[in-house]
Amino acid sequence: MCRKLISSLYDNPNMSHVVKQDICDVEGCDKVAERSFNIKKVSETSLTLKNPDARSVHLCKEHYKILKKETKDDIPDYLG
Ligand SMILES: [Zn+2]
Repeated sequence: MCRKLISSLYDNPNMSHVVKQDICDVEGCDKVAERSFNIKKVSETSLTLKNPDARSVHLCKEHYKILKKETKDDIPDYLG
């Protein structure tokens, strides 16, 4: 009757609670993404995406800067 349920816990010794990191969605970029954006916003820029069908786009720091630059109407870079 006593099944070794516990054994299933040990089946996967590599299973750890690693926080999933998103990678930048810009074509040719494999840096860790800092933030995610609506694809609408990103499609207004010159950035080329790995997956144009995605709903949200993850951008690394560098590409976030570019997005900010190219969408300065929406995201003010500076005031005044
Ligand atoms: Zn990037």
